[in-house]
Amino acid sequence: MLLKNCRYRTQNGAIKRGNIRIEEGIIESAGDLKAGRDEDIEDLNGKLVIPGLICYHSHAYSALAFAFHTKERPSSFESILKNLWWPLDSTLDREEVYCSGVLTAMEYLRHGVTTIFDHHASKNFITGSLEELKKAFEHVGIRGSLSYEVTDRYGEERTEEALRENERSVKHYGGLVGLHASFTLSDGTLAKCAELAEKLDTGFHVHLAEGKIDNRDAVKRGYRSAADRLSRFGILNEKSIVAHCVNVSAEDIGLLKRTNVVTCPGSNANNGVGIMNLKAMLQERINMVLGNDSFGYDMLEEAKRLSFLQNLRAKEQYMIPTDVLFNSDPASKLIGRRIGRIKTGYSADLVVLKDWPSMESMDTEHVMVDGQWIIKNREFVKDLTEDLRRIRKAAERVGEKSSDTEVI
Ligand SMILES: [Zn+2]
Repeated sequence: MLLKNCRYRTQNGAIKRGNIRIEEGIIESAGDLKAGRDEDIEDLNGKLVIPGLICYHSHAYSALAFAFHTKERPSSFESILKNLWWPLDSTLDREEVYCSGVLTAMEYLRHGVTTIFDHHASKNFITGSLEELKKAFEHVGIRGSLSYEVTDRYGEERTEEALRENERSVKHYGGLVGLHASFTLSDGTLAKCAELAEKLDTGFHVHLAEGKIDNRDAVKRGYRSAADRLSRFGILNEKSIVAHCVNVSAEDIGLLKRTNVVTCPGSNANNGVGIMNLKAMLQERINMVLGNDSFGYDMLEEAKRLSFLQNLRAKEQYMIPTDVLFNSDPASKLIGRRIGRIKTGYSADLVVLKDWPSMESMDTEHVMVDGQWIIKNREFVKDLTEDLRRIRKAAERVGEKSSDTEVI
């Protein structure tokens, strides 16, 4: 297939004019190309093509949160967890997990996001939950890396079940071993997670120092900080994704040098936990990537939040968010497939924006994953009417259940 007459974004940010040839889901070449005889041609009329965006930290389980009523008005990071996120994940059954996955995939794709690293929890439906998400993501057409948040919040039996769910999923689909956060994990569980990841030859997906509670808890357990604690269990390695890192010291930043740090500025601002010291991270050459904690779906908007908040924090305009937004190298390594660039040999995960040159908003016209159109002229190619009906019903049930869900 030849995408003809387009402008496309190269890795250094330059916009080139030309054509993109795709063969078997891979970008064969890009530039001044002639159409081959009998080649399938798509004229893009000068529109801008960018690589499919990547969200390095999402929670598909939160997709139906709009229907969930909290018991109390959350007033702190801990109360947001206890009033909203933990009760919500506890209510989800198989169908609701599947519907959350479909809705998540649809919304991210609509915003030009073609790969997500998901961090899942559903306390009362653990075994098989990642399989449901996998089915949902494949059904809609998004690329997803899966992990289940292991936690000790709900007792030993559920901790073991979550470990087994990670094991099963990594063996079948790849992905990472998920850990909720240092403050909800015992040393014994951290050791089991480390042992599992080593056996599966994979890394971890974990929250770190999002709120102050993570460090307070680690100090109580005899560690210098939460980063110190995770580091001692070998979790902060090159195969891992470490989300937030808002409350970290200079010494902690030194422990993050080998790993991949995801910043989620919008979520952090919304939860009132603070603004990560990105300037210090970049000075120490920490590998920074962007996530959004499923606080919305628009990664371009998230990149703007990053820029605004960091420049405000530093009181100078130093931040160019595109380097972080388009950092696809960790994703390629973790997924084992070259993604996130318009370059020979990379997967044809592409987004065609409606208007050029504006990148003020993600006005996506077409979205392609693996060389297949998923969205064409702003409509999903696949008929998802039945899925939307199921999502509405699932949202209604989640809303009904929220009235008799206890604060955790
Ligand atoms: Zn998160």
